[in-house]
Amino acid sequence: MSVHEIRSFVEGDWVPFGNQQTITVNSAVTGEPVALVGQSDINFHSVLDHARNVGGPALRAIGFHDRARLLKALALHLDQHKEELYALSHTTGATRADAKIDVDGGIGTMLVYASKGRRELPDSSVWLDGNVEMLSRKGTFVGQHILTPKLGVAVHINAFNFPVWGMLEKLAPTLLAGMPAVVKPATPTCHVTEACFRMMIDSGILPEGSVQLIVGATGDLLDRLNAQDTVSFTGSAKTALSLKSKPRILRKSVTFVAEQDSLNATVLGQDAAPGSAEFDILVKEVVTEMTAKAGQKCTAIRRIFVPQGMQSAVADAIAAKLDAIRIGDPANRETQLGALVSLAQRDDVMAKVTKLREEADVVFDGSAMNMGDVDVERGAFLAPHLLMCDDADAAKHLHEIEAFGPVSTIMTYRDTQHASALLNRGGGSLVTSVITHDPDIARDIALGTASHHGRIYINNRDSAGESTGHGAPLPHMTHGGPGRAGGGEELGGIRGMHHYMQRTAIQGSPDMISAVVGTWVPGSTTHTEDAHPFTKGFDALKLGETFLSDSRTVTLEDIETFAHFTGDTFYAHMDEEAAKANPFFPGRVAHGYLLLSFAAGLFVQPDPGPVLANTGLSDLAFQKPVSPGDSISVTLTVRRKTRRTEDYGEVRWHVVLTNQDDETVATYTLHTMNAYSA
Ligand code: NAP
Repeated sequence: MSVHEIRSFVEGDWVPFGNQQTITVNSAVTGEPVALVGQSDINFHSVLDHARNVGGPALRAIGFHDRARLLKALALHLDQHKEELYALSHTTGATRADAKIDVDGGIGTMLVYASKGRRELPDSSVWLDGNVEMLSRKGTFVGQHILTPKLGVAVHINAFNFPVWGMLEKLAPTLLAGMPAVVKPATPTCHVTEACFRMMIDSGILPEGSVQLIVGATGDLLDRLNAQDTVSFTGSAKTALSLKSKPRILRKSVTFVAEQDSLNATVLGQDAAPGSAEFDILVKEVVTEMTAKAGQKCTAIRRIFVPQGMQSAVADAIAAKLDAIRIGDPANRETQLGALVSLAQRDDVMAKVTKLREEADVVFDGSAMNMGDVDVERGAFLAPHLLMCDDADAAKHLHEIEAFGPVSTIMTYRDTQHASALLNRGGGSLVTSVITHDPDIARDIALGTASHHGRIYINNRDSAGESTGHGAPLPHMTHGGPGRAGGGEELGGIRGMHHYMQRTAIQGSPDMISAVVGTWVPGSTTHTEDAHPFTKGFDALKLGETFLSDSRTVTLEDIETFAHFTGDTFYAHMDEEAAKANPFFPGRVAHGYLLLSFAAGLFVQPDPGPVLANTGLSDLAFQKPVSPGDSISVTLTVRRKTRRTEDYGEVRWHVVLTNQDDETVATYTLHTMNAYSA
């Protein structure tokens, strides 16, 4: 295999290869050199300037929706070239299945962000956080929290184990937020990251300056960061500590997100005896976590807690499955367990196993496993190691040392309280799984450990068929954990963008708030126009445009007709005495749904026109009952417009129903899809 010179990409160009202090990256499988990482002369001041002055403005010039479209295009482009990345991943010890977790996982994460960006965010750069807060009695002074993109640079420092996913899962929320990024991959697998990065640049999809790549050392990059910048670090606790405690980072209050080592665990419920579906699920999950990516997953199960008395059965079942695993050359399609990333990594794992063995016995070490024809001297192959400890309370290393490879230890517990205490001994982890079919056990352990774990994965016979796996961080759910795990939070849907945006509390009159946030806020100025708003195209509607309906009297006959027609003969509408006895009603009252139907009858313009469909209604509150003889009228105001396609967009209308005394009867938000003007 040819040795590839790995280059950085800064200020819109690939940097010439630097020959000083070259690091050779060897194949994890054969030990042959596959890549050379040199130290180039990079001016980090200019790198940051380029991101801040070229990439940032270009990204912020377009809104969330256009940025989401870029992510989608990028993900689809990478998807077309992924075979090349799978092939290269082989040199890192990854099987095809491992490479798919990395490559397809990264592409999938980008696609989820692309989709969420368009469905959950407005077509602007201002993200409203929560509702308007009423800060005054008459409503002339209100508040709204907003998030806007930070004006700096996101520096992503990534771990070696996921060279593609690690880059893409951070780029997706960063670029969607509108922030440019500088990516620094871990050296042992940077050739895979560089290949993926090259594909992104070659696609020409991203605006100039929005991404840069630094391979090798980062020089004085971190010493040049400011309060508008964010560092998102993944790696060991030791490196995290040394970087986040840099005086510059502390002095400038640079946001520092850390995802570091983690003593993740699984617990088998007391209901899950051998032979149960849950027992088998636990065995399967443990074997997957020990062998996928050769156990080099930040979320892999390191501690297995089982009820006292079940340890031998669990150990035998896991050992039997491990023994059947095919270990060997990851390029071979049958191989299930490839190599660790390097010989140094294997040495590190074995040194940690030696420490763990001070407190645990070896149940399985794969000494009889057939490794095929791989060269175990030159390739970083390591059989799975399953350990067992009799006294989980007395153990120390087992709750502290992370052997980042195919290593896990079985321990026992007495009851759910004891299991929770042991799970929490990890000092904070990314994920804990609870394998049980008993809701009480699931609740006791989940609530007993939620404070210490970023994610709690409960699995059993009902969910196993569709469950996503203990170790899989999903873009929809938070990835991160407290304490030992670094205290960071990534992903979690659009929550993952928080690190790249500033939250600001805006206070002022409703008109001022409307102007700032680009959405009409109740209490702001409204205006009526001659034409009914349902006759106007999406583009022609203006925020604050209002329609005032005629009024309609609600009769007892209306209520009875509606009751019999729908079958809703609830006593509050049909029985005067019973309704009066209810603390909320003066006597018989109109159905809330009757009022909504009458409201629609009062505000619609019935002819075919730009309104294509009513797609929903939200934030409905019935505020005052309507008695027979009362009359109601409706006010409909354009609150927010969101472009969906070239042909139509979504309009959110603020709807208020009032009675003859001008008292508010009900409020809600109506959603419609409206075509553009013909
Ligand atoms: P590492 O040695 O701490 O390195 C992590 C990253 O930091 C690499 O990119 C490394 O680059 C860089 N780095 C090291 N020193 C630096 C410095 N002075 N300035 C700037 N960057 C520096 O960790 P690793 O060995 O790659 O990863 C394994 C660890 O990561 C495991 O402990 C695992 O649990 C953890 N991990 C956690 C998660 C999570 O999401 N929580 C995910 C994956 C892995 P070089 O390679 O060039 O030194």
